[in-house]
Amino acid sequence: TNKVKRIDTEVDRLRMRRKDTDTLKVTENVFDEPTLKTLYTLSSKGILKAMGGPISTGKEANVFLAEGEDRDIAVKIYRISSSTFNSMEDYILGDPRFRNVRHSKRDIIFAWTKKEQRNLIRAKEVGIRVPEPIVAERNVLVMEFLGENEKPYPQLKDIRLDKEVAREAYDTIIHYIDVLYKEANLVHGDLSEYNILVVPETNEPVFIDMGQSVTSEHPRSRDFLLRDIENIVRYFKKYGIDEDPHGLYSSIRDK
Ligand code: ADP
Ligand code: MN
Repeated sequence: TNKVKRIDTEVDRLRMRRKDTDTLKVTENVFDEPTLKTLYTLSSKGILKAMGGPISTGKEANVFLAEGEDRDIAVKIYRISSSTFNSMEDYILGDPRFRNVRHSKRDIIFAWTKKEQRNLIRAKEVGIRVPEPIVAERNVLVMEFLGENEKPYPQLKDIRLDKEVAREAYDTIIHYIDVLYKEANLVHGDLSEYNILVVPETNEPVFIDMGQSVTSEHPRSRDFLLRDIENIVRYFKKYGIDEDPHGLYSSIRDK
């Protein structure tokens, strides 16, 4: 069909554009046969109208801008060929929600994608600003695009805030960690200035990248909670915020 052609063309275009860089390999890796099939499925369901440009190439996933049913969407594609998935199994195996997952690499990646979707839903339910997940299909997560005019909102690490605004953002982030733990029973697990986007004008923080988030039953959830808090406290030092991560940790942990 036309839609399928459009995706193929888009893939070719992406390849062309990146031919001169070493990301070519990554781009080829991400659009493997099963992933293209998944994109066709999403396209035939009307969820995905056309793929747009790449937003990010990470260790395990690529994120693309795309045209959705009636708005722009972000398409996060976990690479099936990625070799950094050994640690994934540990996160999945410690999570009671995934007791029945078979242990092939593909299944782990599919479970991981579903896990990110569920984590985002849970976070959203308790009032945390996150990208609204739309569909998780195999290794592809479709979600709300956080940005304007095809430009994603900046990561916290890339902006400079006024002192008072920084204090507000910091308070919101700590509040989110607290609510996430106490009400959603979740620990983000990779929280830092990289996985928080900031909405321009309002300076509202948005949590992203929740594939590795775990429930409090996970044997390492407390370590992750402390590490998340430490990352945030460390980052906000430059704004004159000086708090003791261990104090914060105790007050959050002791539900
Ligand atoms: P990774 O595992 O590769 O770090 P992330 O989920 O953190 O994956 O996404 C990588 C980058 O892509 C983010 O830092 C952000 O800039 C961008 N991004 C991710 N999700 C969205 C989204 N829903 N809307 C806009 N940009 C996004
Ligand atoms: Mn990330």
